Amino acid sequence: MDPRSVAHALRQIADFLEMKGENRYKSAAYRNAAGAILTVQTDDLAPALASGELAELKGIGPTTLATIRELVESGESRYLEQLRTEIPEGLLEMLRVPGLGIANIRKIHEGLGLSSVQELEEAATDGRLAKLPRFGAGTAAKILKGIAYLREHSAYMLYPRALAESERMLAAVRAHPAVESAVVAGSLRRRNEIVRDIDVVASCREAPESVAASFALAPGVRAAEEKGDGTVTIRLVDGSVLDLHCVTADRFGVALWRATGSASHEREMRERATSRGFSIVKDELRDAIGARMPVSDERALYAALGLAYIEPELREGRGEIAAAAANKLPTLIEAGDIHGVLHCHSDYSDGKATIAEMAKAARALGWTYIGISDHSQSAFYAGGLKPDAVIAQHAEIDRLNAGNPGVLVLKGVEADILADGQIDYDPELLDRFDYVIASVHSRFALDRDTMTARMLRALDDSHVTILGHPTGRLLLSRDAYAIDMEAVIARAAARGVVLEINADPHRLDLDWRYCQLAKSLGCAFAIGPDAHSARGLANTDYGVGIARKGWLEAPDVVNTLPADQIVERLRRRRQK
Ligand SMILES: [Zn+2]
Ligand SMILES: [Zn+2]
Repeated sequence: MDPRSVAHALRQIADFLEMKGENRYKSAAYRNAAGAILTVQTDDLAPALASGELAELKGIGPTTLATIRELVESGESRYLEQLRTEIPEGLLEMLRVPGLGIANIRKIHEGLGLSSVQELEEAATDGRLAKLPRFGAGTAAKILKGIAYLREHSAYMLYPRALAESERMLAAVRAHPAVESAVVAGSLRRRNEIVRDIDVVASCREAPESVAASFALAPGVRAAEEKGDGTVTIRLVDGSVLDLHCVTADRFGVALWRATGSASHEREMRERATSRGFSIVKDELRDAIGARMPVSDERALYAALGLAYIEPELREGRGEIAAAAANKLPTLIEAGDIHGVLHCHSDYSDGKATIAEMAKAARALGWTYIGISDHSQSAFYAGGLKPDAVIAQHAEIDRLNAGNPGVLVLKGVEADILADGQIDYDPELLDRFDYVIASVHSRFALDRDTMTARMLRALDDSHVTILGHPTGRLLLSRDAYAIDMEAVIARAAARGVVLEINADPHRLDLDWRYCQLAKSLGCAFAIGPDAHSARGLANTDYGVGIARKGWLEAPDVVNTLPADQIVERLRRRRQK
């Protein structure tokens, strides 16, 4: 059995255990084992099992190893089959409805005998669900909305998961003897915030069609659909989808461009080709008499159409072709331009690491400053700091900085924007911080006018340096607030408030679609990892991807400034 199939079975066991209300550690053990198994590069786990390699893997213990052994040797797990008879599989599907937790799923199952999302939808529509004790019409309506959301989004993955998936798929494709090289294309290459299918383009030494066909037979494949000319769509056992495009080396450039998209970019490029007497047919660029023109790589394709090279992140049909024609493309920000970050939590609030540990991790990343921005007192559920804890934290930061830690530690805060738009904490306390990130963490459901007024009032407070995760969306689970974002951006520009690009992969907010507008109005940006641990600092790179999609250059982002300029830049707002 292959790693993907084994990992899928282990994850199902974990889901069932959670649904049964078993000890959390038990399900976590199966989830960890699934993660560990996926790191093994092989089509068949039997040799690694026999050699003892699997037993050595971090994340696999004696119990999970026994399950893996059974799966590899017999293709099944009796434990999983047993769990299947105890709990309807449809309940696991209900877990994916946003806002529906295990406790409520159990009540629904026991109270109404429902065991699928389909049945749940019917009961929510015909009024049965509302009659369940402590449910009511409001809850039923919320669940219906959640089901609609699930339908629309269930095929999508967050960026980091898609990235990890693509690395596994790439490794498998590259291992094929006839594949010379393979790269990721599609929306993942364009660094979109959510990704549906993984596209891989492979340059092949021999007949691309037969290479594509051979992948349809690979282990872990549930179904494969060959689409001719070397393209095959592969559905894997765990629901992931791979679109594999196999081509010969001389067609690789155009094939990669095509598979990268987006559809609107592709359409505009074809129009440009036509207007210059060219055409793009399948993976070929052809001249006026239909003869194939040599295109060594993507750059050559853009050059042939009289365009500067367009980075994949910009290929969204938002003016990039006109800019490339006029040689006015932005010099996009890169990860190496970042000198430090400002949105980090420590164990003073809901972070896992101490300030010293966060500082050390920042230094290891080559940064020269790190801002600690714990939650304010109203965010009591996230361990928000009472005023005396702020004073103690500042004393600790002063001590740390005095000890020359190799990075400058800044005194920040992520202060709640209260329901009426006031900022949590008194002005005197706010004055003590180097900067203030103001964020909405409660009362998301205000009507559009009230929410907009709340946000505008917050931006008018001269203590506010940065507007945190401005739209409030949670990718694949919660839409942005109802808010007049244009008005918010215009006010931020007028008041000199920096807009955050929150780099938590669940947020990636400010939405990149607003960046060009905000930049044109004069807004500056801050890429914030919203790190709750040392590892969370790595989120920053996802934020860089979003900034690139938003056409941003290094000077647009305040945390590309060096340490000796950042404090002054952050204080500028308050002095206005
Ligand atoms: Zn926040
Ligand atoms: Zn935060």
